Amino acid sequence: MDLFGYVDNVLNFFRLPIWRYLIYGAIFILIVIWLAFVYWTFRDAKLRNTSLVAAVFWALVVLVFNFLGLIIYLILRPPEYIEDVLERDLEIKRMQLLLDSDLSSCPSCGNEVKHDFMICPYCRKKLKNTCISCKKPLEFNWKVCPYCKTAQ
Ligand SMILES: [Zn+2]
Ligand SMILES: [Zn+2]
Repeated sequence: MDLFGYVDNVLNFFRLPIWRYLIYGAIFILIVIWLAFVYWTFRDAKLRNTSLVAAVFWALVVLVFNFLGLIIYLILRPPEYIEDVLERDLEIKRMQLLLDSDLSSCPSCGNEVKHDFMICPYCRKKLKNTCISCKKPLEFNWKVCPYCKTAQ
């Protein structure tokens, strides 16, 4: 077999229809991955942004720039999921409510007690002093009764 015959054979080999199918298959897979990137970005952005516009914007960025767009998105995306932010806000509100209410926790056992309780109903820890004169509840560190001006 001479050289030209050999080259001819090689070329014929690459002219087989299987190559075309393989290339089509590869292109198809690339397109699927590309679209998966776009979809993933859209979903991730929607979980992190309140606005749909921002999610669509980032999906378009990835659609146009693909890998580059994805990298830019990963750098610039908001660090937290909305759900986490909402959950934290809820927790803060709950704490605030507890602070605003007339409840506090017993320094000894941690159970919820009212501010005007003299003694913890759970562990019997003394929570307040009693004024020696008017018997009103006083905080431990008060030197004088604010109701009757008697020094304690
Ligand atoms: Zn207690
Ligand atoms: Zn008093």
